[in-house]
Amino acid sequence: MAVPKRRTSKKVKRQRRTHKKLQLPGMVECQNCGEYVKSHHVCKECGHYNGKEVVEQ
Ligand SMILES: [Zn+2]
Repeated sequence: MAVPKRRTSKKVKRQRRTHKKLQLPGMVECQNCGEYVKSHHVCKECGHYNGKEVVEQ
């Protein structure tokens, strides 16, 4: 196994992680109410999916 000659410094480690932020993966805005919903899931707020009402409130 290869062993790194130098340990990665805190600076380099933090710089590498700057673009790895907190994010909600797979979340999209509902086309009807603008609420964040999981993609490929019906919106819990208004029962719409892909701009159409699929679940009656
Ligand atoms: Zn909605």
